[in-house]
Amino acid sequence: MDNRRSFLKRFIGISSMAAAPVLSRVAEAAQTARVSNIRLSQSYNRTRLVFDLDRNIDHSIFRLHNPERVVLDIKDTQLIDAGLIEQMHNTLLKGVRTGVRNGRDLRVVLDLNNQVTPRSFLLRPEADAGHRLVIDLEDKDYAAPVVKKKEQPKKLRDIVVAIDAGHGGKDPGASGHLGTREKDITLQIARKLERLIKKYPGMKPVLIRNGDYYMGLRERVQKAREKKADLLISLHADSYRDTRARGSSVYALSVDGASSETARWLAEKENASDLIGGVKLDNKDDMVAEVLLDLSLTGTIQSSLDVGDEVLGELKRIGRVHKRRVQQAGFAVLKSPDVPSILLETAFISNPREERKLRSPAHQRKTAKAILRGVSDYFSRKAPPDTWLSLNNKQHKAVAGETLSAIANRYDIGTEELRVYNRINGNQLRIGQPLKIPYTSA
Ligand SMILES: [Zn+2]
Repeated sequence: MDNRRSFLKRFIGISSMAAAPVLSRVAEAAQTARVSNIRLSQSYNRTRLVFDLDRNIDHSIFRLHNPERVVLDIKDTQLIDAGLIEQMHNTLLKGVRTGVRNGRDLRVVLDLNNQVTPRSFLLRPEADAGHRLVIDLEDKDYAAPVVKKKEQPKKLRDIVVAIDAGHGGKDPGASGHLGTREKDITLQIARKLERLIKKYPGMKPVLIRNGDYYMGLRERVQKAREKKADLLISLHADSYRDTRARGSSVYALSVDGASSETARWLAEKENASDLIGGVKLDNKDDMVAEVLLDLSLTGTIQSSLDVGDEVLGELKRIGRVHKRRVQQAGFAVLKSPDVPSILLETAFISNPREERKLRSPAHQRKTAKAILRGVSDYFSRKAPPDTWLSLNNKQHKAVAGETLSAIANRYDIGTEELRVYNRINGNQLRIGQPLKIPYTSA
């Protein structure tokens, strides 16, 4: 543990040192804009270059013929990383060169294979994007059939919610005075939650246990990972010797629980190698692997706490909560390094009043609904970008005089893409019409 901490410190130390020269250069020339990134995209006959800038700029653009070029001058601007323009080309764009003019302006020369109509415009900062300079190059001779082809929207998927009914089979869990068994209650609530999620557009349920049989905790975690769950919810009912104890609790994994788990996952490198976005752990030394896995777990725990907060907030609305904050503990079923996981103690089965509630189908349904509300609130903010629910993350309300293509430009997407997502034919827009803005890398 100590070794890892000091390694992490060193790791952070090195990266801040490396950043220092860049920062001081910026301080010297406070009025100089910086190009932090250049992106190239193509749709139909249009090639688009987007310059990400840290402030507003003045620019001019003109054409030169024989050979065909478009020249872009940006006042008081620096390209910090020349690597951005290396190998930037497509069928129209032969290459990009840059140079400094008047000692402080940036000149960008676009070498072209064909004559174009260039167009440029600036985009003001949005919530998730800064100043952008957009250059559109329209290729006049671009083959017509391609223009007619419909752009395919990105392949999107449902969010997978794994529902784990605690205990089962030879392990009945806790039991109440009326003889109610935890394993039965958890399965009943799990099935109700499954039914609700099935009806929720953009989400798909997976029952980890679907019957009265025993399942090990590791097996449950494994199944959630196999089903590519975006979230695991483990359902339980609490029990305490004082029968007055009452209310629901929500748990996420504790950092200590995670740390000991790191060691275990590392012992199974075969399993661990696919955990961190394609980073193969086998070829790295253990310390690097441990740091990477730790970072992944820390992120997963953060997400678990976040979704746990939402669910606890909803449970508060339908009844008492035992602890007003999400608790953290080392429950084995929460130990997926890459699947946010929460454990719910829905109520105290040891409390006779709560036991009766737990048995009631109406109350079970109420509980399931509260869980779904919490989960859907969480995913309406944090849907993974390749899911249907991520579409709802951005909405645009059309204002008077706005055109589809202007809106598409604003969000850095194709007009046709915007049409397909919103099932719009033609160019008609109502004032105030809400438009879903598909996820883009912009
Ligand atoms: Zn339990």
